[in-house]
Amino acid sequence: APVNYDVVVIGSGGAGLAAAIQASDDGAHVVIIEKMPTIGGNTIKASVGMNAAETRFQKLKGIEDSKDLFYDETLKGGKFKNNPVLLREFVELAPEAIEWLAAKEIELCDITITGGMSIDRTHRPADRSAVGGFLISGLVKNINKRDIEVLLETSVAEILVENGVVTGVKVVDEYNDTRILNAKSVIVATGGFSANREMVVKYRPELDGFVTTNHAGATGSGIAMLQKIGADTVDMGEIQIHPTVEQTTSYLISEAIRGGGAILVSQAGKRFFNEMETRDKVSAEIIALPEKSAWVIFDEQVRLNNKAADEYIAKGFVISAPSPQELAIKLNMDLHALLATLERYNLFVEKQDDEDFGRKTALRHPLNQGPFYAIRIAPGVHHTMGGVTINPDTAVLDAQKQVIEGAWAAGEVVGGIHGANRIGGNAVADIIIFGILAGKNAAALARR
Ligand code: ADP
Repeated sequence: APVNYDVVVIGSGGAGLAAAIQASDDGAHVVIIEKMPTIGGNTIKASVGMNAAETRFQKLKGIEDSKDLFYDETLKGGKFKNNPVLLREFVELAPEAIEWLAAKEIELCDITITGGMSIDRTHRPADRSAVGGFLISGLVKNINKRDIEVLLETSVAEILVENGVVTGVKVVDEYNDTRILNAKSVIVATGGFSANREMVVKYRPELDGFVTTNHAGATGSGIAMLQKIGADTVDMGEIQIHPTVEQTTSYLISEAIRGGGAILVSQAGKRFFNEMETRDKVSAEIIALPEKSAWVIFDEQVRLNNKAADEYIAKGFVISAPSPQELAIKLNMDLHALLATLERYNLFVEKQDDEDFGRKTALRHPLNQGPFYAIRIAPGVHHTMGGVTINPDTAVLDAQKQVIEGAWAAGEVVGGIHGANRIGGNAVADIIIFGILAGKNAAALARR
């Protein structure tokens, strides 16, 4: 027999969990459906943090930022392809989303920077650890506190529609049993499609053979299900490759390492670009090197400021040496070239002026404290900017820009917010901001 809910949430990443919490707090009877055996989706792998401007935590640190600047820099980073209405809403609601999390004991009070921004606005946990694990464990505590039902290893196969209105979903559980769940609102928070090689190559043939940083569940099934009920899509070919991915493990080397002062060096021992440029540009420069790969190089000071660095060391792919000379030997790199590169970079830090590549941010401190560290990296498929179209209420739109009643979408499954290139730290902001909104509006519709 069919089971009745007010709101069905598909996907247990950040967007789905935030939506479920908000819908529950607004009085809705909610269930979360997750096809994988574990909660957290790709969000759990998020590294750097959550962007927001004009937050309490920025003010506490004396950081003067503005929503307008956040808007302008995100638009520029997205090559002016971003949906301006959704982007404006994103920027406006970001500080409230930071407070929404803080009120749930998920405090992102330390602040750093990523590529494509001029001011520290990437919020992360106090201990400077990766944001994903911290965020998901905090959200899960909130899910448990509210007794929200989560069905793991259960996949939504179809969104059901009658007379143009969503009526529920068809799910398939781990025993291959099919069930119908009735609901007036269905929130699709299924993430992107970076792990669906066929779908990536369909839109971007030149990305065949690239590794992906994403978890296996990032298959784009939510996009396909929504298309089947008439949803329109936008920017499907806008697929982000992240410049710094360790290739043997597909492990993402966080931008926070560069934001903490690391540099990128070619096999020839030379810097080749502004490390703090946007992901698309840095990736293109790495692919243009003869080896199509490069080294992230940092020193002990950078390591001390980034918890992630210790994680990378524990994973076993960081090469370290007490001095730059010894590091160069281990990397099979021209010793003099590396020494000259470090000397020149350290001079730029002292002058706060990168004469070679115009790096303006995160010229933190000279790289001169051993041990020295290196990680070999190359780009990997990281984020799909495209997805289904929504209105500012997160209601899914069809090709005529009409609302499909009862269908909501939030997170990476949605297209348009990031334009042609997503800024590091904007995905976590996206999922929380629009997750909350989807939860609120889905609950309101269901209770009407
Ligand atoms: P976001 O960052 O937008 O929240 P995530 O990638 O973190 O997205 O999470 C999306 C989640 O949705 C993943 O855990 C994924 O396994 C799950 N998912 C994707 N498709 C389905 C489906 N058809 N049924 C149930 N869960 C799904």
